[in-house]
Amino acid sequence: MTYDADAIAPLRAFVVAMTRLVERSRDEAVLLDEGRRLLAQLVSRDGWLPPAFSRSGADSYRQYLLHADPLERFSVVSFVWGPGQRTPIHDHTVWGLVGILRGAERCRRYLRADDGRLRAHGEETVLRPGEVDAVSPRIGDVHVVANALDDAPSVSIHVYGANIGAVRRHVYDESGTATLFVSGYSSDVVPNLWDRSAAARAAPVDA
Ligand code: FE
Repeated sequence: MTYDADAIAPLRAFVVAMTRLVERSRDEAVLLDEGRRLLAQLVSRDGWLPPAFSRSGADSYRQYLLHADPLERFSVVSFVWGPGQRTPIHDHTVWGLVGILRGAERCRRYLRADDGRLRAHGEETVLRPGEVDAVSPRIGDVHVVANALDDAPSVSIHVYGANIGAVRRHVYDESGTATLFVSGYSSDVVPNLWDRSAAARAAPVDA
């Protein structure tokens, strides 16, 4: 199969739109609201994520950096859960959006009770392709995400208000004890968003 540099165009368009958005506003409510709309559009169709960034791992979920804003105002990551895989209870410390591309994911929120323990809060939700969830310290930042499928991987696209792999944050046990956590990324390469040569070659030649 030949490499189709144009297949990634929806991700490039999303990165451009998110860059314009963070240029225009630093207001979290605006970023979550408009970012949600942009992410919903990105995950409304499949076919643009290169296979190298949707491979599941045998031991644990994978998190592949797709793009980091040069000023680290946002980052875009593909998360891939194999059957039965889940995150620990964790926080983000910055705003985040989760859009489902393939499969289905179970999300459970946690709140700190008066005794200091973390307790599951509200219903567990199941997100399906095209759906988007939001987190932040303001609206609820502690959760667990798991693959809702027993027999197939699930893939979601996440956007965060920082270079999330380098953010000092926390994982928690049920007693509420926090442990410092810096996630990093599962890959040392990012997809090539910028090979627009086919369109340049196809453009009409000036007379
Ligand atoms: Fe999370």
